[in-house]
Amino acid sequence: MGKATGFLEYEREIPGEIDPQERINSWKEFTVPMDEEKLRTQGARCMDCGTPFCHVGRLLSGMASGCPLHNLIPEFNDLVYRGSWKEALKRLQKTNNFPEFTGRVCPAPCEGSCTVGKSGSPVTIKSIEKAIVDRGFSEGWITPRPPVSRSGRKVAVVGSGPAGLACADQLNKAGHEVTVYERADRIGGLLMYGIPNMKLDKAKVQRRVDLLAAEGITFVTGCEIGKDIPVADLQAQFDAVVLCGGATQARDLKAEGRELAGIHQAMEFLSRNTKSLLDSELQDGQYLSAKDKDVVVIGGGDTGTDCVATAIRQGCRSVTQLEIMPKLPLTRQSNNPWPEWPKVLKTDYGQVEAASLYGKDPRQFETSTKRFVGNAEGHITEIETVKVEWQQVGGRLTPVEVPGSEQVIPADLVLLALGFTGPENRLPEQLGLERDERSNVKAEFGQFTTNVEGVFAAGDMRRGQSLVVWAIQEGRQAAREVDRYLMGSSVLP
Ligand SMILES: Cc1cc2nc3c(=O)[nH]c(=O)nc-3n(C[C@H](O)[C@H](O)[C@H](O)COP(=O)(O)OP(=O)(O)OC[C@H]3O[C@@H](n4cnc5c(N)ncnc54)[C@H](O)[C@@H]3O)c2cc1C
Ligand code: SF4
Repeated sequence: MGKATGFLEYEREIPGEIDPQERINSWKEFTVPMDEEKLRTQGARCMDCGTPFCHVGRLLSGMASGCPLHNLIPEFNDLVYRGSWKEALKRLQKTNNFPEFTGRVCPAPCEGSCTVGKSGSPVTIKSIEKAIVDRGFSEGWITPRPPVSRSGRKVAVVGSGPAGLACADQLNKAGHEVTVYERADRIGGLLMYGIPNMKLDKAKVQRRVDLLAAEGITFVTGCEIGKDIPVADLQAQFDAVVLCGGATQARDLKAEGRELAGIHQAMEFLSRNTKSLLDSELQDGQYLSAKDKDVVVIGGGDTGTDCVATAIRQGCRSVTQLEIMPKLPLTRQSNNPWPEWPKVLKTDYGQVEAASLYGKDPRQFETSTKRFVGNAEGHITEIETVKVEWQQVGGRLTPVEVPGSEQVIPADLVLLALGFTGPENRLPEQLGLERDERSNVKAEFGQFTTNVEGVFAAGDMRRGQSLVVWAIQEGRQAAREVDRYLMGSSVLP
């Protein structure tokens, strides 16, 4: 292990960030890399406890506890402490195909279950992970490594998000000939067109895609399977098909006035902004503009926060974020013990930026939308809201309106960030796939086989909208099952 008394001697530190007032003028990432000495000190804080919960990666009370990829965290912490960066990278690559993504966007369930965090502040695992892989790229240690031999088997992967990419990477490593089909014009799924550039630089996504292509994976963009190519063609041409199409069906809000112009799904706002940014630095005007508008984001989750930060960078006049759930406490409650995921108030980058710019947190908790109001031209002008209280009604926690708490909020642009209801229907219907009770494609976790011979499913399409780290994990495991299906056994982890 690293320094036996490190966790007693050193305090937790996380990377600094560019001042919110400054960074909102740019679409670039805003964390400031930590210097080597600090990172090694942070690595020294790892206790190398006998039972490291940080890499367990299982669901406790319905939430991830520990790293779903089972990253060898105490090992890479120790190697970083000792300055053995190349060895640390090798350890990280054993379990994680894309640490440059998780090191940037993962909510780090590993840190929530870190043993040091039981009575103090957890080890800064995510930042160490990011530093290891960023160093690997800058030192030139990460280079294309095509497989030494080919199996002669062909696999089609539908969808190029983290699940599809991880699955393709693993299958390619096993020597299979892999083609990834993507309907968008760029590869990456929500890594490319969901998560905004300031959180995950698209050049870093493209760098990985280029690496995978150099290793022998074929990418086909602008091709929707089930529409541009019948899925039966894939079944005929390939030995196996893996569906990684995500859970992109957005939840809508059925309120009076929903048909007014100026009300959009968050994903339309976010993806068009990124596409226009990449195509033309926002010069082509092919995006929904929040400039000089009063923006209301409905939904307090990560997608909503990304909308807040994007609207701010576009120059909105004001931004309000409505959340129907109550504000979480600042510290763990007794019914949410370690090593469970800490259900505490998270103030993310978008809210920090809004507070810095407009003087207050943009979130209004326990607030429900009653109706949308428009002008004579049929454009949204304001939203009527009401406060709610969560009460037990018929054995279920239910939001109950608080009389007299109605409020009117000016709004020229409303963004619905209410989550996703599941995968789109076209592909599952064409294939006659069974669905689970949440409408996801039915394929048992660990096996990933659907009811159709030779067709597998992984990532959000199988588990519902989730996290990048789970998508990578599912892609990896599905690859192993496909390999087993094709070859009778598998050496993939
Ligand atoms: C705005 C937003 C922000 C998020 N932020 C975070 C975050 O910070 N951290 C985190 O861990 N998670 C985050 N998530 C969740 C995370 O991005 C997803 O859980 C993850 O990307 C799922 O990966 P996937 O590969 O299963 O699917 P996706 O990433 O959704 O990729 C699916 C791909 O399949 C393609 N596709 C679908 N059907 C077809 C077809 N028939 N033919 C061809 N292509 C098809 C789609 O175009 C898409 O590119 C966020 C999600 C959103 C929406
Ligand atoms: S992938 Fe996420 S959970 Fe796993 S070590 Fe990295 S930050 Fe932690």
